[in-house]
Amino acid sequence: MILETFPVGPLQCNCTILGDEEAGEAIVIDPGDEVGRIHQRLTSLGLKLKQILVTHAHIDHVGGALKLKRLTGAPILLNENDLPLLKMMEEQAEWVGLSKAPETAPPDASLADGLVVGLERFPATVLHTPGHTQGSVCLHFAPLKMLIAGDTLVAGSIGRTDLPGGNSQQIIDSIHSRLLALPEETKVLPGHGPATTIGEERFSNPFLRVR
Ligand SMILES: [Zn+2]
Repeated sequence: MILETFPVGPLQCNCTILGDEEAGEAIVIDPGDEVGRIHQRLTSLGLKLKQILVTHAHIDHVGGALKLKRLTGAPILLNENDLPLLKMMEEQAEWVGLSKAPETAPPDASLADGLVVGLERFPATVLHTPGHTQGSVCLHFAPLKMLIAGDTLVAGSIGRTDLPGGNSQQIIDSIHSRLLALPEETKVLPGHGPATTIGEERFSNPFLRVR
């Protein structure tokens, strides 16, 4: 198994490459920027890209998806509830101080709750966890004891809810009902910053203590 997570772009979104070297296949999660670098890495690993999975439609997570699709032919998957945000790329570029909005296109399929995505040997179940945005999802790779959390849960904190589509009660509910229900040893790879575990966040995340 190949698992590489590295921050991309000015907002340092964590992009992840998950590959199966035996099958020669990979998926990429949240190619927000630096698509040339991501594509080069896939090429040097000799992996064919099967899916581009986007945890939510914020510019720093989805910004490079269409470019990567054009380079590889892989389909883009994004939850349908984030389509309004996807159409607001110009506004989003202004929010974060970028002069130019990336080109986007509607996804090829929705990352609907319960859908199984990923690679044959490393599948993930989609958990719809609205709150940071209405279409925010987490990807639970149960056999790998790993969660890709997008901006829903980060180490010691939770995603911001002050942007359009954000809802602070909803994100807390999503985390409690969907994420804290996972096994404690589940490794969490957030959309920004360092990795953590479900157990660590359940124990010490100040945003999750009181309900
Ligand atoms: Zn975000």
